[in-house]
Amino acid sequence: MAKLIFLGTSNAISDASHENTHMVLAGDERVALIDCPNNPIQRLQKVGINADLVTDLILTHFHPDHVSGVPLFLMVMWLMGRIQPINIYGLQHTIDRMENLMDIFGWNTWPKFFPVKFTRLPEKVLVPVLECGDFHIFASAVKHFIPAIGLRIEFRNSKKVLAYSGDTKPCAQVVQLAMGADVLVHEATGASAGHSSAIQAGEEARHAKAGSLVLVHYPNGEFATRGPVADAQRKFKGPVTLAEDFMVLDFDK
Ligand SMILES: [Zn+2]
Repeated sequence: MAKLIFLGTSNAISDASHENTHMVLAGDERVALIDCPNNPIQRLQKVGINADLVTDLILTHFHPDHVSGVPLFLMVMWLMGRIQPINIYGLQHTIDRMENLMDIFGWNTWPKFFPVKFTRLPEKVLVPVLECGDFHIFASAVKHFIPAIGLRIEFRNSKKVLAYSGDTKPCAQVVQLAMGADVLVHEATGASAGHSSAIQAGEEARHAKAGSLVLVHYPNGEFATRGPVADAQRKFKGPVTLAEDFMVLDFDK
């Protein structure tokens, strides 16, 4: 099994049917959560994944709509009796703040807390994050307005490649992450500081010669914009999809 499931697809202003953007990458050996804006346990249950199976948590950057749920996620897993360790990865900027946040919650006073291993990734390009029988994940620093990463995920069995921009303005690092990828998942917040529009996401997909483009982290509800898919298609001729919560991308074959 190797699939990416969208647990949320909205930008920071979520609505009733679009949670903030986060995803789970589910393999046979490892299950990696990408960002944690809210307690993800119910959404994981909904897609048939027991939170106990989550081995890794990758945090793209320290903004509330990406990391606010981490303390509650860890606390609830502890209360549910988790004993196995979890790995949490991010840039130093992200992990320093996450450890401080947990200290503010006084987590060292929570008895018999399961081991949490923090890994500080260097702010470089194509840094290996984790490797297992299912996939190999690399991270590159991208161009948000605080230190942030995007990801490249290479699947072992199918040889397929998935790239995720994270929160970023268009930059060479995203094109490099997505070079020749089968799927580029790109944010489409809108053209603003440290973000990209759907048109720009289309340009990035074209520059990277990606096979297909999936738009995520887009405005919803009263802030929804018209036609993000059509916007991206003005620049990119491959298939373009608007991610929806609980959408599944299969990388088995
Ligand atoms: Zn952000």
